[in-house]
Amino acid sequence: MEERKGRRIIMFPLPFPGHFNPMIELAGIFHHRGLSVTILHTSYNSPDPSRHPHFTFRTIYHKKEGEEDQDPLSQTKASGMDLVALIRVLKKSYEEPFRKSLAAEVVGGETVCCLVSDAIWGKNTEVAAKEVGVGRVVLRTGGAASFCAFAAFPLLRDKHYFPIQDSRLDEPVIELPPLKVKDLPVMETNEPEELYRIVNNMVKGANSSSGVIWNTFEDLERLSLMDFSSRFQVPIFPIGPFHKHSDNLLSMTKNEEDHVTTDWLDKQDPQSVVYVSFGSLAAIEEKEFLEIAWGLRNSEQPFLWVVRPGFVRGTEWIESLSCGFVENIGHKGKIVKWVNQLEVLGHPAIGAFWTHCGWNSTLESICEGVPMICTPCFTDQRVNARYIVDVWRVGMELERSKMDKRGIEKVVRSAMIKKDDGIRERCLKLKERVNVCLSQDGSSSKYLDKLLSHVLTFDP
Ligand code: UDP
Repeated sequence: MEERKGRRIIMFPLPFPGHFNPMIELAGIFHHRGLSVTILHTSYNSPDPSRHPHFTFRTIYHKKEGEEDQDPLSQTKASGMDLVALIRVLKKSYEEPFRKSLAAEVVGGETVCCLVSDAIWGKNTEVAAKEVGVGRVVLRTGGAASFCAFAAFPLLRDKHYFPIQDSRLDEPVIELPPLKVKDLPVMETNEPEELYRIVNNMVKGANSSSGVIWNTFEDLERLSLMDFSSRFQVPIFPIGPFHKHSDNLLSMTKNEEDHVTTDWLDKQDPQSVVYVSFGSLAAIEEKEFLEIAWGLRNSEQPFLWVVRPGFVRGTEWIESLSCGFVENIGHKGKIVKWVNQLEVLGHPAIGAFWTHCGWNSTLESICEGVPMICTPCFTDQRVNARYIVDVWRVGMELERSKMDKRGIEKVVRSAMIKKDDGIRERCLKLKERVNVCLSQDGSSSKYLDKLLSHVLTFDP
């Protein structure tokens, strides 16, 4: 580890696993290069600092003691998780407390060389960083292709793509090839105008930053990164995949459930298991849940299925599955509440990943050379799915709106039973590109060196 004592980076993640995890991985990369890291995190979804002993954690509270009753965040949670509304409330609730916390951090202690904030916090963090004279770099935890689609929102609006009309879903978006109208990164929400505001604010906040860090790599998204650079005058640092920079970056503390899952996977044949997970935020209807369950069962392929508590709307966990179903799957299928996904995807028993195409899941699957079955649910997942299926050609599509048990059975079988479609070969080739980008002279390593020099130029 190089020594850069007395230099500190402040990081401000968005409090969802798909955003927090890559920020922590990035913190590990900085720490490994000799910088100290302070994580300012929200009291909402507060992490467990003991899992990350190398970093200093500071909690930002958005309310005073005794104000819990009026907590807008707990109300948002209770009202059934409209993500757009939740992000609106988070941004508003933490804007002022963040300013104060950042100011407090900058006074005294080691020199703060820069703030790295999640791009979704948008311009909120810009004012705060300016006030205390700290350079601001943003981390975009999604891919470059989806960012370019977000950046095109004003144009797409002018051209009447929004609100999306059902009759146009299969039309190409000529301004954003290879996307179709159904791939545009929107989501169901009661606050569509707010979604545009959050997206535009994210794009503007990135554009006015001193640099954008991407958890992606050049060989994967070269054209999209070039597209971004042709439109925005901001230095870019595609240094991903973060979690592959060093094997020791992630705290691999295993809990009892992880051991049980690994033991089960150890008993399966190589490439025989379909791993199913829709990430940390997506939710589905009970009817869809039952179709998935029976589709998996009828495919007769072994499966490992993550069903988060709350994943199925209106139920606690899997109680809507009949006893008959659970008996029926026997040892063929395993349903769990959460797994260590990096470990699961790296297990030789995994033959395919049925995913919602969240960016982290997409990258993690690519890194392990695992073919994907793509069922995007919202926002950037739709763009990622189109690239997985049509550009990188390492997965197949299973549209959510057309998902019934027969269709599921068919797609799962065709993904698992090896065919001459070249998907597996392309997965392995892409996995090799990851290693090339991360090698000493690879693009991600070079960009990382540039990033470190860049943030050190901000020193007051
Ligand atoms: N994840 C995990 N265990 C699970 C499900 C998800 O560790 O059972 C992790 C996964 O490895 C990924 C993150 O949670 O890093 C999910 O991020 P992603 O961008 O794929 O989707 P999101 O949750 O943001 O929709």
